[in-house]
Amino acid sequence: MRRHLDSLIASLADSNINARPDAAHSDRPREECGVFGVFGHEEAATLIYLGLYALQHRGQEGAGIVCSQDGMLTTHRGVGLVSDVFKPHKLARVQGTHGIGHVRYSTYGMSNLKNVQPLVVDYARGSMALCHNGNLVNAAVIREQLESEGAIFQATTDSETIIHLISRSREQSFTDCVIDALRQVIGAYTILAMNGEEIVAVRDPLGFRPLWLGRLDETFVLASETCALDIIDADWVREVEPGEVITIGRDKLESRKPFPPATPKQCIFEFVYVTRPDSVIFGKSVDVVRKAMGRALARVAPVAADMVMAVPDSSNPAALGYAHESGIPFDMGFIRNHYVGRTFIEPDQGIRDFGVKIKLNPSRSTVDGKRIILVDDSIVRGTTAKKIIKTLRRCGVREIHYRVASPPIINSCHYGIDTPNRHKLIAHNFSVEEIRQFLEVDTLAYLPIEEMLRATEGNMQHFCTACFDNNYPTPTPDRFQPRNNAARHIDHSTDVYGG
Ligand code: SF4
Repeated sequence: MRRHLDSLIASLADSNINARPDAAHSDRPREECGVFGVFGHEEAATLIYLGLYALQHRGQEGAGIVCSQDGMLTTHRGVGLVSDVFKPHKLARVQGTHGIGHVRYSTYGMSNLKNVQPLVVDYARGSMALCHNGNLVNAAVIREQLESEGAIFQATTDSETIIHLISRSREQSFTDCVIDALRQVIGAYTILAMNGEEIVAVRDPLGFRPLWLGRLDETFVLASETCALDIIDADWVREVEPGEVITIGRDKLESRKPFPPATPKQCIFEFVYVTRPDSVIFGKSVDVVRKAMGRALARVAPVAADMVMAVPDSSNPAALGYAHESGIPFDMGFIRNHYVGRTFIEPDQGIRDFGVKIKLNPSRSTVDGKRIILVDDSIVRGTTAKKIIKTLRRCGVREIHYRVASPPIINSCHYGIDTPNRHKLIAHNFSVEEIRQFLEVDTLAYLPIEEMLRATEGNMQHFCTACFDNNYPTPTPDRFQPRNNAARHIDHSTDVYGG
């Protein structure tokens, strides 16, 4: 069995479906995107820049800002981190009193400049721009239909279908055109759309992704997370509700609920991993929920040990929760290098586990001879967990009890969290005992799904848990396969990793 597991896992690691150079050593589900909008401020672009900086954890492959000055849209977008894309002279070119911005991780479409948002177009009624967080499940068939009618697409992102639908709408107001477009799509969408006069903010009826309304004096602010409101000292007004459409214009703030009512299905993985712990989403502090998950884990999977430690940083709150509940001391067993850029050159051979070691290194004096409880927020392929465990063993750890503060991930996400194809997920293929053998740990336990949901102290029916239990709250993309699979051209000139 061991050899079978090892060879399978090796093949999973090598055949990364997304073919991203850094993904072989990054065995994490990927953040998706973050959005930020400002209405009514002379320095809108600077505020958006700061907001995107706070949301950088939600996407590192591209960033963009568009602002409106007297109805004229100006934009700047680029591949890379916010600080790389927006040098001061480039930010200064984006002028206006209202605008929207986006940080991107490519969950759909290639990671090149054409897919970086906001998407900005000129159409019959002027100019408009769009930021989208989430994935649509029926984008491919809509695109096929539009192309059959003569539409020309520039990007490969699903968000471009929305902007086409807005442009074609026969409704009168910009908000009604946005609503008309969104009635035709299925899936996850937190949207900021704008024209020269207004910003329209929307959360899909199931509310997969978070969105906040804030206020800075007379200026309205929209942000994926509260940490982005905090960075500009904006007050938190309230969360945009699932299915809510908010229009902000001059002397205008309107809220509507135009979609049929639905039971919310907010992404539980936002609590597990995606959102920053200092943010509040879905009515709860992420830090508090993660600690509650850790405490629950200590109750359902106790074990005698000398110390609790985390796989930093996202697992820190859960590990602290485990330590508080168990009474076993927490210690910093790993030191994380916060200065690792995405472009470091990984040697092909010779330096084993380089990718993991450059990011995380055990503190030998802390772990040597100890029985440790290692708390992680999730396991995807299992390849990084295995390498981490190896590095701990080399430092003389006596026992490793691996505790995962979420259930086994058995399915892919179709709503904006980048998980591999399910056949590449270790828990899709193997039992907990088989995974324990593969990881070579003394014990392994996951947090049961009911305990994870209970930790939110929210309505347990109001969360999507599809990657853990296969209960997808919408039809899945295989129900919307286009008939025409014509090859699409590839534009390498703006690739993030191009030479
Ligand atoms: Fe979140 Fe998982 Fe549902 Fe995707 S499938 S929205 S990651 S809970």
